[in-house]
Amino acid sequence: MSNANLLDYLNDPSPRTLGRSPLEWLDRLNKPTVVHVAGRDRSRTRAMATLLHGNEPSGLFALHRWLLEQHTPEVNMLFLLGGVYPAKIPPALSSRQLPEGRDLNRCFKEPFEGEEGAIAKAMLAELRKTQPECLLDVHNTSGTGPAFAVSITNDAAHQALTSLYTDRLIMTDLRLGALMEYSEQEVPTVTIECGGAQDDHAHQLAYEGLVRYTSRADVLSLEKAEWNVAVLRNPIRVELAPEATIEYRLEPSGHADLTFPPDIEHRNFGIVSPDEPLGWIGKKGLGILTAISHNRTENMEQVLRVQDGQIYPAQAIKAFMITTNPVIAKSDCLFYAVKATGEPIF
Ligand SMILES: [Zn+2]
Repeated sequence: MSNANLLDYLNDPSPRTLGRSPLEWLDRLNKPTVVHVAGRDRSRTRAMATLLHGNEPSGLFALHRWLLEQHTPEVNMLFLLGGVYPAKIPPALSSRQLPEGRDLNRCFKEPFEGEEGAIAKAMLAELRKTQPECLLDVHNTSGTGPAFAVSITNDAAHQALTSLYTDRLIMTDLRLGALMEYSEQEVPTVTIECGGAQDDHAHQLAYEGLVRYTSRADVLSLEKAEWNVAVLRNPIRVELAPEATIEYRLEPSGHADLTFPPDIEHRNFGIVSPDEPLGWIGKKGLGILTAISHNRTENMEQVLRVQDGQIYPAQAIKAFMITTNPVIAKSDCLFYAVKATGEPIF
């Protein structure tokens, strides 16, 4: 199928065509959509993708507001709205992907199978045609928490892009077929996690970051950066065994394999020292947890230890994407962690 069948195109859309709200606009979108907006400097282009996951609306909200306000960007802008199909499933903006479909942000690599693969391939063709100087991919996290960026490269350009939104960049060597791997085409590419999908702060940040991204002559040099960026390299992923139980309580009830305090989310991005307890472990011990690195090695001893039924970090760590949602904790992961210095634990 040609791109014309897979994608819809909007050029400098007028406010009339956008609906009064992002939901009205989404209602009018029929397919993954490419939006071109002409800039002051017509010789250059920057790109932003969003809504790759249909339940992560901050980027859509920001783009809708920005388009309604009729800004003239510094350079041409290319916007890619990926997951329009899952986003439109009622209730709107609640489905990450189609019920039988694949995660679109795992499809940006060969062999581009299925409908999502075809959409990803068409989006990549659009990028190759437009040749943007950089690319952002704007998402929301499932739990609440501060914003952060993710990339596969850590250099001045990637840090400068990060600084438009946040002061934390997670650098990963893991390759999953995510759009941020477009960085390998020598185009600085950063994923922005704005914060929780239900969080007004996340929507506001997505908008403010978009205004910075589109209104500056230079977004790729660090001298212009808003703030210093802390780089966290190759976090390990701590997972809970599928049959294990977790509770969020001030004290363990004695029935769960793992108990975290209800305010554990406040630990996000803070440093936890080896003498600070994180929670309580049940009779099964640490065997219900696994700590996996980007290269699939496992080593729990370097991450957590147990003393008198309580769990402590084995060394000073910085943990993030901690959730108090037991469903996410079990289906995705408990948290990510690096050394307090930002270096990989192993
Ligand atoms: Zn996402």
